Amino acid sequence: MRAILLGPPGAGKGTQAETIVKEFSVPHISTGDIFRKNIKEGTDLGKKAKEYMDQGKLVPDELTVELVKDRLQEDDCKNGFLLDGFPRTIYQADALEDALKSMDQKIDYVININVRKELLVERAVGRRICKDCSQTYHMSFNPPSKEGRCDSCGGQLQQRKDDTVDTVNNRINVYLEQTEPLIDYYTKKGVLVNVDGEKSIAEVGKDIVEKMRNK
Ligand code: ADP
Ligand code: ADP
Ligand code: ZN
Repeated sequence: MRAILLGPPGAGKGTQAETIVKEFSVPHISTGDIFRKNIKEGTDLGKKAKEYMDQGKLVPDELTVELVKDRLQEDDCKNGFLLDGFPRTIYQADALEDALKSMDQKIDYVININVRKELLVERAVGRRICKDCSQTYHMSFNPPSKEGRCDSCGGQLQQRKDDTVDTVNNRINVYLEQTEPLIDYYTKKGVLVNVDGEKSIAEVGKDIVEKMRNK
Protein backbone atom coordinates (compact mmCIF):
# COMPACT_ATOMS: atom_id res chain seq x y z
CA MET A 1 0.00 0.00 0.00
CA ARG A 2 1.62 3.22 -1.21
CA ALA A 3 -0.20 6.40 -0.31
CA ILE A 4 0.12 10.15 0.02
CA LEU A 5 -1.66 12.45 2.47
CA LEU A 6 -2.55 15.75 0.84
CA GLY A 7 -4.14 18.79 2.45
CA PRO A 8 -3.43 22.31 3.68
CA PRO A 9 -1.43 23.00 6.85
CA GLY A 10 -3.49 22.02 9.87
CA ALA A 11 -5.91 19.81 7.91
CA GLY A 12 -5.08 16.76 10.04
CA LYS A 13 -2.55 14.88 7.91
CA GLY A 14 -0.22 13.96 10.77
CA THR A 15 -3.14 13.04 13.02
CA GLN A 16 -4.74 10.74 10.46
CA ALA A 17 -1.39 9.24 9.51
CA GLU A 18 -1.36 7.47 12.88
CA THR A 19 -4.61 5.62 12.08
CA ILE A 20 -3.59 4.76 8.52
CA VAL A 21 -0.16 3.34 9.35
CA LYS A 22 -1.68 1.15 12.08
CA GLU A 23 -4.35 -0.13 9.72
CA PHE A 24 -1.99 -0.89 6.81
CA SER A 25 1.29 -1.57 8.67
CA VAL A 26 3.45 0.78 6.62
CA PRO A 27 5.96 3.44 7.75
CA HIS A 28 4.85 7.05 8.19
CA ILE A 29 7.16 9.39 6.28
CA SER A 30 6.62 13.05 7.17
CA THR A 31 9.04 15.45 5.49
CA GLY A 32 8.14 18.10 8.10
CA ASP A 33 9.05 15.68 10.94
CA ILE A 34 12.33 14.77 9.21
CA PHE A 35 13.25 18.45 8.80
CA ARG A 36 12.36 19.20 12.44
CA LYS A 37 14.51 16.28 13.63
CA ASN A 38 17.43 17.62 11.59
CA ILE A 39 16.94 21.09 13.05
CA LYS A 40 16.94 19.65 16.56
CA GLU A 41 20.13 17.70 15.85
CA GLY A 42 21.78 20.71 14.22
CA THR A 43 22.65 18.93 10.95
CA ASP A 44 23.54 20.81 7.73
CA LEU A 45 20.19 19.87 6.26
CA GLY A 46 18.48 21.21 9.39
CA LYS A 47 20.33 24.51 9.14
CA LYS A 48 19.35 24.91 5.49
CA ALA A 49 15.72 23.91 6.05
CA LYS A 50 15.19 26.12 9.09
CA GLU A 51 15.45 29.45 7.27
CA TYR A 52 12.63 28.46 4.94
CA MET A 53 10.44 26.75 7.53
CA ASP A 54 10.55 29.66 9.97
CA GLN A 55 9.11 31.90 7.27
CA GLY A 56 6.47 29.41 6.19
CA LYS A 57 8.15 28.92 2.81
CA LEU A 58 8.85 25.59 1.14
CA VAL A 59 12.28 24.05 1.50
CA PRO A 60 13.81 23.93 -2.03
CA ASP A 61 12.67 21.01 -4.17
CA GLU A 62 16.15 19.57 -4.79
CA LEU A 63 16.86 19.14 -1.07
CA THR A 64 13.44 17.68 -0.35
CA VAL A 65 13.39 15.27 -3.28
CA GLU A 66 16.81 13.81 -2.46
CA LEU A 67 15.77 13.27 1.13
CA VAL A 68 12.61 11.38 0.18
CA LYS A 69 14.30 9.30 -2.53
CA ASP A 70 16.86 8.10 0.04
CA ARG A 71 14.14 7.34 2.57
CA LEU A 72 12.14 5.26 0.06
CA GLN A 73 15.19 3.05 -0.56
CA GLU A 74 15.17 1.87 3.03
CA ASP A 75 14.10 -1.67 3.84
CA ASP A 76 10.92 -0.80 5.72
CA CYS A 77 9.46 0.78 2.54
CA LYS A 78 9.55 -2.47 0.56
CA ASN A 79 5.87 -3.25 1.09
CA GLY A 80 4.61 0.30 1.10
CA PHE A 81 4.65 3.64 2.84
CA LEU A 82 2.54 6.64 3.74
CA LEU A 83 3.94 10.00 2.65
CA ASP A 84 2.74 12.97 4.71
CA GLY A 85 3.49 16.47 3.44
CA PHE A 86 5.27 15.25 0.31
CA PRO A 87 4.91 15.97 -2.58
CA ARG A 88 4.04 19.65 -2.21
CA THR A 89 4.86 20.85 -5.74
CA ILE A 90 4.33 19.46 -9.24
CA TYR A 91 8.13 19.18 -9.53
CA GLN A 92 8.21 16.93 -6.44
CA ALA A 93 5.29 14.85 -7.73
CA ASP A 94 7.02 14.26 -11.09
CA ALA A 95 10.28 13.37 -9.31
CA LEU A 96 8.43 10.92 -7.07
CA GLU A 97 6.76 9.28 -10.04
CA ASP A 98 10.11 8.84 -11.80
CA ALA A 99 11.76 7.43 -8.69
CA LEU A 100 8.93 4.94 -8.14
CA LYS A 101 8.92 3.93 -11.80
CA SER A 102 12.58 2.98 -11.55
CA MET A 103 11.63 0.66 -8.65
CA ASP A 104 8.58 -0.73 -10.50
CA GLN A 105 6.23 0.90 -8.03
CA LYS A 106 3.34 3.36 -8.14
CA ILE A 107 1.10 5.35 -5.83
CA ASP A 108 -2.21 3.62 -5.01
CA TYR A 109 -4.01 6.40 -3.13
CA VAL A 110 -3.76 10.13 -2.58
CA ILE A 111 -5.95 11.01 0.38
CA ASN A 112 -7.03 14.63 0.11
CA ILE A 113 -8.21 16.04 3.44
CA ASN A 114 -10.60 18.96 2.87
CA VAL A 115 -10.87 21.67 5.54
CA ARG A 116 -12.03 25.26 4.97
CA LYS A 117 -9.38 27.95 5.30
CA GLU A 118 -11.24 29.62 8.21
CA LEU A 119 -10.70 26.55 10.41
CA LEU A 120 -7.03 25.95 9.58
CA VAL A 121 -5.49 28.81 11.55
CA GLU A 122 -7.27 27.82 14.77
CA ARG A 123 -6.16 24.21 14.29
CA ALA A 124 -2.51 25.07 13.67
CA VAL A 125 -2.21 27.73 16.36
CA GLY A 126 -3.71 25.40 19.00
CA ARG A 127 -1.44 22.53 17.95
CA ARG A 128 1.05 21.17 20.49
CA ILE A 129 3.74 18.56 19.75
CA CYS A 130 5.58 16.26 22.15
CA LYS A 131 9.25 17.23 22.08
CA ASP A 132 10.30 13.60 22.59
CA CYS A 133 7.99 11.50 20.40
CA SER A 134 6.32 14.10 18.07
CA GLN A 135 2.80 12.99 19.10
CA THR A 136 0.35 15.78 18.15
CA TYR A 137 -2.32 17.33 20.39
CA HIS A 138 -4.65 20.32 20.22
CA MET A 139 -5.30 22.61 23.18
CA SER A 140 -9.10 22.48 22.64
CA PHE A 141 -9.86 19.70 20.12
CA ASN A 142 -7.53 16.95 21.32
CA PRO A 143 -6.00 17.90 24.67
CA PRO A 144 -3.64 15.61 26.62
CA SER A 145 -5.00 14.20 29.88
CA LYS A 146 -2.36 16.08 31.86
CA GLU A 147 -1.75 19.68 30.80
CA GLY A 148 1.53 20.21 28.92
CA ARG A 149 2.50 16.49 29.03
CA CYS A 150 2.40 13.78 26.38
CA ASP A 151 -0.04 10.92 27.11
CA SER A 152 2.21 8.38 25.34
CA CYS A 153 5.63 9.19 26.83
CA GLY A 154 5.24 11.95 29.44
CA GLY A 155 7.38 14.32 27.31
CA GLN A 156 6.90 18.05 27.38
CA LEU A 157 4.48 19.55 24.82
CA GLN A 158 5.71 22.41 22.69
CA GLN A 159 4.32 24.79 20.13
CA ARG A 160 5.94 24.72 16.71
CA LYS A 161 7.76 27.93 15.86
CA ASP A 162 5.87 28.17 12.55
CA ASP A 163 2.43 27.76 14.16
CA THR A 164 1.78 31.49 14.62
CA VAL A 165 -1.15 33.29 12.95
CA ASP A 166 1.07 35.13 10.43
CA THR A 167 3.23 32.15 9.47
CA VAL A 168 0.22 29.85 9.17
CA ASN A 169 -1.41 32.38 6.82
CA ASN A 170 1.77 32.40 4.71
CA ARG A 171 1.79 28.62 4.65
CA ILE A 172 -1.86 28.53 3.54
CA ASN A 173 -1.01 30.89 0.64
CA VAL A 174 1.98 28.74 -0.32
CA TYR A 175 -0.32 25.70 -0.23
CA LEU A 176 -2.88 27.38 -2.52
CA GLU A 177 -0.23 28.43 -5.03
CA GLN A 178 2.09 25.45 -5.10
CA THR A 179 0.38 22.40 -3.60
CA GLU A 180 -3.32 22.66 -4.47
CA PRO A 181 -2.61 22.01 -8.19
CA LEU A 182 -1.72 18.45 -7.11
CA ILE A 183 -5.43 17.76 -6.56
CA ASP A 184 -5.98 17.99 -10.33
CA TYR A 185 -2.71 16.19 -11.04
CA TYR A 186 -3.73 13.13 -9.02
CA THR A 187 -7.41 13.27 -10.03
CA LYS A 188 -6.28 12.83 -13.64
CA LYS A 189 -4.23 9.80 -12.57
CA GLY A 190 -7.35 8.30 -10.96
CA VAL A 191 -5.89 7.89 -7.47
CA LEU A 192 -7.48 10.77 -5.54
CA VAL A 193 -9.67 9.96 -2.52
CA ASN A 194 -11.50 12.99 -1.06
CA VAL A 195 -12.44 13.14 2.61
CA ASP A 196 -14.28 15.72 4.70
CA GLY A 197 -11.68 16.78 7.25
CA GLU A 198 -14.06 18.93 9.28
CA LYS A 199 -15.61 15.99 11.15
CA SER A 200 -14.16 14.69 14.42
CA ILE A 201 -10.70 13.07 14.40
CA ALA A 202 -12.25 9.60 14.87
CA GLU A 203 -14.86 10.09 12.13
CA VAL A 204 -12.30 11.33 9.61
CA GLY A 205 -10.10 8.31 10.37
CA LYS A 206 -13.01 5.92 9.87
CA ASP A 207 -13.95 7.58 6.55
CA ILE A 208 -10.40 7.36 5.24
CA VAL A 209 -9.98 3.67 6.05
CA GLU A 210 -13.42 2.82 4.59
CA LYS A 211 -12.78 4.75 1.38
CA MET A 212 -9.36 3.16 0.93
CA ARG A 213 -10.74 -0.33 1.49
CA ASN A 214 -13.58 0.26 -1.00
CA LYS A 215 -11.60 1.94 -3.75
P1 ADP B 1 -1.34 18.66 9.48
O1 ADP B 1 -0.38 17.51 9.64
O2 ADP B 1 -2.22 18.49 8.29
O3 ADP B 1 -0.67 20.00 9.50
P2 ADP B 1 -2.25 17.93 12.19
O4 ADP B 1 -2.61 16.50 12.08
O5 ADP B 1 -1.00 18.28 12.89
O6 ADP B 1 -2.32 18.63 10.72
O7 ADP B 1 -3.48 18.68 12.88
C1 ADP B 1 -3.45 20.09 13.14
C2 ADP B 1 -4.09 20.36 14.50
O8 ADP B 1 -5.50 20.13 14.42
C3 ADP B 1 -3.57 19.45 15.62
O9 ADP B 1 -3.51 20.20 16.80
C4 ADP B 1 -4.63 18.34 15.70
O10 ADP B 1 -4.74 17.81 17.04
C5 ADP B 1 -5.90 19.08 15.31
N1 ADP B 1 -6.85 18.24 14.54
C6 ADP B 1 -6.53 17.29 13.62
N2 ADP B 1 -7.66 16.75 13.08
C7 ADP B 1 -8.70 17.38 13.69
C8 ADP B 1 -10.14 17.24 13.58
N3 ADP B 1 -10.71 16.36 12.73
N4 ADP B 1 -10.90 18.04 14.37
C9 ADP B 1 -10.32 18.93 15.24
N5 ADP B 1 -8.99 19.10 15.37
C10 ADP B 1 -8.18 18.33 14.62
P1 ADP C 1 1.97 21.32 7.89
O1 ADP C 1 1.37 20.03 7.51
O2 ADP C 1 1.36 21.92 9.10
O3 ADP C 1 2.07 22.31 6.77
P2 ADP C 1 4.69 20.12 7.86
O4 ADP C 1 5.24 19.61 9.12
O5 ADP C 1 4.25 19.17 6.82
O6 ADP C 1 3.51 21.11 8.29
O7 ADP C 1 5.73 21.12 7.18
C1 ADP C 1 6.36 22.15 7.90
C2 ADP C 1 7.31 22.92 6.98
O8 ADP C 1 8.35 22.03 6.53
C3 ADP C 1 6.69 23.49 5.73
O9 ADP C 1 6.09 24.76 5.94
C4 ADP C 1 7.93 23.58 4.81
O10 ADP C 1 8.73 24.70 5.15
C5 ADP C 1 8.70 22.32 5.19
N1 ADP C 1 8.32 21.19 4.34
C6 ADP C 1 7.72 20.03 4.73
N2 ADP C 1 7.51 19.22 3.69
C7 ADP C 1 7.98 19.87 2.58
C8 ADP C 1 8.04 19.58 1.19
N3 ADP C 1 7.53 18.42 0.69
N4 ADP C 1 8.60 20.49 0.35
C9 ADP C 1 9.12 21.64 0.83
N5 ADP C 1 9.07 22.00 2.12
C10 ADP C 1 8.51 21.12 3.00
ZN1 ZN D 1 5.54 11.90 23.68
